[in-house]
Amino acid sequence: MSDCIFCKIVNGDIPAAKVFENDHVVAFLDISQVTKGHTLIIPKVHKENLYELTPEISSELFKVAPKIANAIKDAYRPVGLNLVNNNGEKAGQSVFHFHMHLIPRYGEGDGFG
Ligand code: 5GP
Ligand code: ZN
Repeated sequence: MSDCIFCKIVNGDIPAAKVFENDHVVAFLDISQVTKGHTLIIPKVHKENLYELTPEISSELFKVAPKIANAIKDAYRPVGLNLVNNNGEKAGQSVFHFHMHLIPRYGEGDGFG
């Protein structure tokens, strides 16, 4: 999708702080860090939302999600972590290329939730 910001990150057309990449999936730091280490995991193929994911893509995403969560845990030592996915504008989705947020939590007053 030529006008999709996350497709541009996948293609290297705009920069992102990538923390993981393989043939199917990319993870990078969210440009607007809700908490320190806030990371997005996306499929390389353009799928708008959860409804459009195939079993294969879902499997690739969840193959890497625990690895990335553990990397965040080791790097930032949070006390918890939220896995969040928004589907549809009314549910808070602002970028219409499927993504999962990994949001490390640091306790009361960490600014999220
Ligand atoms: P949503 O609201 O769709 O669930 O989340 C979209 C997320 O993408 C937001 O947290 C926003 O900060 C992030 N985002 C939007 N544009 C960019 C960008 O160009 N680069 C990065 N790294 N994150 C972005
Ligand atoms: Zn896209």
